[in-house]
Order: sequence, then C-alpha cells, then structure tokens
Amino acid sequence: MNKKVFRNLSYGVYVVSTLDGERHTGCVVNSIMQITSSPAAIALSMNHDNFTNSCIQSSGQFAVSILSEHSDPSLIGQFGFQSGKTVNKFENIDFHIKEGLPVLNDCCGYMICKVVDKMETSSHTVFLGEVIDGDTIGTSPAMTYAYYHNVVKGKSPKNAPTYIDEQENTPEETASLQEPVSPKWVCGVCGYVYEGSIPFSDLPDSYICPICRQSKDKFVQKQGGL
Ligand code: FE
Repeated sequence: MNKKVFRNLSYGVYVVSTLDGERHTGCVVNSIMQITSSPAAIALSMNHDNFTNSCIQSSGQFAVSILSEHSDPSLIGQFGFQSGKTVNKFENIDFHIKEGLPVLNDCCGYMICKVVDKMETSSHTVFLGEVIDGDTIGTSPAMTYAYYHNVVKGKSPKNAPTYIDEQENTPEETASLQEPVSPKWVCGVCGYVYEGSIPFSDLPDSYICPICRQSKDKFVQKQGGL
C-alpha cells in the first residue's frame, strides 16, 4: 500500500488544549471532524502516548484552536514536538481563557468541547466532544494539513494518525515514489525541510528552524526521498 494516498484526505492543523489539574497543557492534532450539527459534536483522534490524551480523559473537556495559514509555525513546534508532561507549553504563548480552558490568540477560530463518548483503537483514542462554545477569530483561512506539508514544509510527529514511516514502503515502492533530488537540509527535531534560495551553508549561525526554533546546528543533510 502506498500510504501517501492518505495525504489526499483533507485535514486541518489544530492545537488541542485541556487541563492537567490546574495546569494548562495541549498538543497539535490534525484529525478532527464534525460529526453532528444539533447538538454540535466533533470527533478528535489522539495517540495514547500523548500526555494530553490522559489529561482529557481526566478532565473530560478540551478546547480546539484552529490554526490559520498566518499562524506562527513555531506554535506547531511548541505544541507538537515536545511533551506537556515535562514542559509548560503555554509559556510565552498568547492565549485567553474560554469556559476555563486556554485558547490561542493566534488562530482563526476555537471550539470548547465536553467529552460525551470515546472509542479506543490499538494506538489512538477517538473522543466525541459536544461543542458548548465556539467562534471564528479574524479572517485568515484555516491551515490545512496539505498547506502545512507543502507550503510550511512541515512533517507529522510520530504520534500523529497521519504520520508516514518512509521505511514502510518496499524498495520497489520507494524507488517509484522517489524522484532523483539533491541532498536537503532537514531539521533533526521537527523534520522541516529547508528550501530557501540561499544555500544552507551560507545562512548565518543565528538561523533557526521556523517551525520549532531549534538552532542551525540541529539540521542534518539527507539524500533525497524525504
Ligand atoms: Fe524544526
């Protein structure tokens, strides 16, 4: 199976937040869809290994901040590539409180949800959340996963349902999927691929990854087939 077919499904990019006791925490997800309109409910898929998962199980509530194409990409690094178990993900983040939950200011809409049901799969929990509040913020278009992948040049963390392990394809499949390309510089933390017009080696030492803010020395050179 060519798992890249799943990239033809449409997804957004969201920060899901909840409470760890009194503490705010959250993570990036892309698997959210509306299930019903009256009462309004959405489904959210989240890996068992995400600390946010256990916090939603305990608190029974979550908020969704819908990232826009103009949202700062570093939000994805802040919320998506580190664990809320050891990091205060809301440190230095602009947010406000709705129904007791943190909502990002730098987004194009939010929803506040109460968990009304859930289903366990082997790797992910599918939460059914009744939407008790929501609104749009600004006029920027919502960021789709395709935009994140093709324009921002970001990758999925391993816990994401849409994560693709490039090693899973057979050699023949891999060969058919790969075009001959020159080596690229890739952020070793978040997978961002540098494709700027300035050669990577000519970038100043102060260059940082636009997604996860890691320093230039965290980039590694990879040969094609990204
Ligand atoms: Fe990065």
